[in-house]
Amino acid sequence: MKEKEIREKAICGNCGKKFGAAKALWFYVVNIKQYAINVSALKRQSGLEQFFEGNVQIARAMSPDEDLAKLMHKRELTICDTCANEDVRISFLAFEDES
Ligand SMILES: [Zn+2]
Repeated sequence: MKEKEIREKAICGNCGKKFGAAKALWFYVVNIKQYAINVSALKRQSGLEQFFEGNVQIARAMSPDEDLAKLMHKRELTICDTCANEDVRISFLAFEDES
């Protein structure tokens, strides 16, 4: 990672401090993706599986292969070593302080 990239990723997405404040030689860059289940498509797929008496392979071959979940939001952020060793709320990180 080059100097410019490191500067762009210097701030921890959880505590808001520079990752160097953790006094560790490493940091984390995580990608969070939030998906929403497509309930109608899931019911159709489940119905096909029931129709074919639980045979997933046949149901899969007979289905329109539609997406069962849709990407709603994604975010890449830096996490310092201190925060990486603590409990974090993924839903908080996904949306907090985006700029
Ligand atoms: Zn942190």
